[in-house]
Amino acid sequence: MIKLQKPRWVFFDGALRPWEDAKLHISSEAVLRGLNVFEGIKGYWQPDGSFGFVALRRHYDRLRQSARLLHIPFEMNFTAFEDACHSLVAALYEPARNMWVRATLYVTEGHWGEGTVADLVLTAYHQEKGPPQPVDTGISTWQRAIDLALPCRIKTSSNYQVARLAKIEGRRRGCPEMILLNQWGRVAESVGSCVLVLRDGKAVTPPPWEGALESITIDIVAELCRSLGIPFERRPVERTELLIADEIGFVGTLSEVTTVRSIDGQPMPEAPILARLGERYLAAVTGLAPHPAVELSCRPRASPSAIASEAAE
Ligand code: PMP
Repeated sequence: MIKLQKPRWVFFDGALRPWEDAKLHISSEAVLRGLNVFEGIKGYWQPDGSFGFVALRRHYDRLRQSARLLHIPFEMNFTAFEDACHSLVAALYEPARNMWVRATLYVTEGHWGEGTVADLVLTAYHQEKGPPQPVDTGISTWQRAIDLALPCRIKTSSNYQVARLAKIEGRRRGCPEMILLNQWGRVAESVGSCVLVLRDGKAVTPPPWEGALESITIDIVAELCRSLGIPFERRPVERTELLIADEIGFVGTLSEVTTVRSIDGQPMPEAPILARLGERYLAAVTGLAPHPAVELSCRPRASPSAIASEAAE
């Protein structure tokens, strides 16, 4: 479980520093108003022994986009961001597990948009190798907000407060994952991924204007579908379509391609198409069967002495 790990090193204030030192002041807008934007980035061990992040450039660009929408300055260029991500994982990784990096811009100084200063904080967590397990899911009574209220295009932690409520609701109903609908009662997304529905051999996902994040993984999956000859469409998805779908999956950086085993207690049939897609996705991100839609930022495995000197600086 990601949330229980307390890794030794965190990147903040421009360098690797001990986990215990990563603190924010109670008067900062990050704490007062939950002002931050973030990305979740996955890295996988590759067959040549290097470590590779998936779509790092796109995550960096989306972080910039979220920051811009919330008027948070973010001056770091991509190369420095890439270096920081690689240096943190190199201080923490182990060959048996992959890693997930959370890149967060916390607003440390400023007041109502004046004098805003932000710091990039990177934390990295170990992830078991292997395919994701099917999940039981439900449809939440909580809704995804519209673009005029709390735009889901901004990847900010405030957007996850309703997701947290959905998770709590789901736990009470025996559903570890939950799907959020939008104000029109159509499918938006799940707590932390996009929803992909298979109907009559066609893969369908709600577009961002229905209340889904502009997902990087969905774009990859769209390309994989094209290669595998699976028709792919972005269009509104109604609630009843979930209940009659042939297959339902969750797609995202962390979910990869996860199949839904049941929806509100109703068992789902086998999911052969999603299984194929999921296998193809994992083969691409782990470098076993590269695909042009999966861009990897790879670095050779660092030697322990190089890591120790970097962390001590
Ligand atoms: N929706 C939400 C709410 C998410 O948190 C995520 C994960 N970042 C996604 C969708 C999937 O986006 P991506 O494929 O870019 O990880």
